[in-house]
Amino acid sequence: MIEMKGIVKRFYIGQPNELEILRGIDLVVRRGEFISIVGASGSGKSTLMNIIGALDRPTEGSYLLDSVPMAQVPDDMLSEIRNLKIGFVFQTFNLIARTTAQSNVELPMLYAGVPRARRAARAAELLEQVGMTDRRRHLPSELSGGQKQRVAIARAMANDPAILLADEPTGALDSQTGRLVMDLFHRLHEEQDKTIVLITHNPELAAETERIVTIADGRIIREEKGGGAK
Ligand code: ADP
Ligand code: MG
Repeated sequence: MIEMKGIVKRFYIGQPNELEILRGIDLVVRRGEFISIVGASGSGKSTLMNIIGALDRPTEGSYLLDSVPMAQVPDDMLSEIRNLKIGFVFQTFNLIARTTAQSNVELPMLYAGVPRARRAARAAELLEQVGMTDRRRHLPSELSGGQKQRVAIARAMANDPAILLADEPTGALDSQTGRLVMDLFHRLHEEQDKTIVLITHNPELAAETERIVTIADGRIIREEKGGGAK
């Protein structure tokens, strides 16, 4: 599903300075695999996630997403690929503040041109799956952190993407609420065969995935089987 070879990412911070944040990442993630990426703060995890999610491009290296060479995809088509193939979940939820839980879940479908009635039905189904039916008309500000994250996960699943990318999704939640979010990921993995890439600081949560990839200073320094391995 994800095939990266020799990925390098440099940021220019003004002449003559340049930061090499990713220093040659080779990473293959099978369809239906659930992996975690761990590593110290500043090691390059989010930078890698942004490239996997086509939010950013590498400076060097090749990246095949679902067999598509991303370097050949023009910029104006990246957002469409993202919207249809990838679901994003962030530490800070990133919900649209001025609109309801239901409308947030409908948004990716709106972008994809799904008709209104079908959007509403699908959003209702997704909100039900994450146990948020009774909060569907609430604004994000009227929801707890865990509830916001459940809405964000429902939104991420709206267009039934093959991949779910989660960058510290439990980082802003207490451990009990984080547990609920992690259980949702396990369900999506097992019941819907989603490919999931989870960035986490929590070693216990990482250990539940099928493979744990450790990054340090822009390089993969370790890959281990996790407790979730089949
Ligand atoms: P992590 O998610 O592992 O904490 P990041 O990938 O967010 O790490 O960041 C890795 C390093 O890259 C950090 O030192 C960060 O400051 C730097 N960095 C990230 N994005 C940019 C950018 N757009 N410009 C310059 N430096 C950046
Ligand atoms: Mg990060």
